[in-house]
Amino acid sequence: MTTVTLPAHVLADPEHILVREVDKTYPGASARALDDIDLVIRRGEFVSLIGPSGCGKSTLLRALAGLEPIDTGSITIYGATPREACSQKAVGLVPQTPALLPWLTVRQNVELPGKVNRAASKRRAHRQGMGASSVGRTDPDELLDLVGLAEKRDAYPGELSGGMQQRVAIARAFGLEPDVLLMDEPFSALDEFTREAMRLHLLSLWQRMRTTVVFVTHSVREAVTLSDRIVVMSARPGRIHELIDVDLPRPRDREVLAGPGLHAVEDRVRDSLQRAWDSGAVPSDLVPA
Ligand code: ADP
Repeated sequence: MTTVTLPAHVLADPEHILVREVDKTYPGASARALDDIDLVIRRGEFVSLIGPSGCGKSTLLRALAGLEPIDTGSITIYGATPREACSQKAVGLVPQTPALLPWLTVRQNVELPGKVNRAASKRRAHRQGMGASSVGRTDPDELLDLVGLAEKRDAYPGELSGGMQQRVAIARAFGLEPDVLLMDEPFSALDEFTREAMRLHLLSLWQRMRTTVVFVTHSVREAVTLSDRIVVMSARPGRIHELIDVDLPRPRDREVLAGPGLHAVEDRVRDSLQRAWDSGAVPSDLVPA
């Protein structure tokens, strides 16, 4: 298990998401869903959580979203508790299936939450004050262009495929400019071909917006393609088995993604998953990721 000892200056640093010594056991469960989880996530980092079913990925994501109480330890998101961060609309959640409003067009779906979310505007203004380039940052047309749906802007969700609908949902989530975006297997309902295209769209969006993302996946390829760092978890109890840096250059264009570097990192992640699997008391009804 990897344990991170946090120096005092990091604890006081509003630039990090800090997960410290977190334990969580569901009532009646025989093993901890989360056991002594320590994790530090930098602002703007793309981090994936991967591991066998039942290793606590979703529990950790929900805890970050303030939706799951923890037994011991602490979680802070840039100095705020998860609940505070959520109430300030600083945390966005992209679920496995898109929840679009069927009576609004694609463009209206992307644009609406931003219109009513004053917190996003305030953060944008703050960033502008800090000198960050945000010209046209949340322009719905630009967001739709980045996910390859510029031509569908006037269509209704019912006229789109599942993959297209999920792209709209992801564009909308980025458009709200949360400080951190939590994504729980957002491509799991899609076929492999569509997933591959989705990864490229997500890469373009992230490259543009640089939102901090915590991404749950079962796919090694997905984790390596997208992430700066991969958290490999093991089950029963749910622990961090290893943190793996993905030292592939960005932007991750097709050339990078077709190169030998990608396969080398994939092999490292697969080895780590195998070791996590070997070390865990995994019940026989669970299958490896
Ligand atoms: P993962 O997302 O990695 O598949 P989860 O976070 O869903 O793992 O689950 C971690 C462990 O906690 C598993 O053993 C699971 O059965 C258990 N668990 C998850 N949610 C609940 C719940 N609401 N009540 C009881 N046990 C749960």
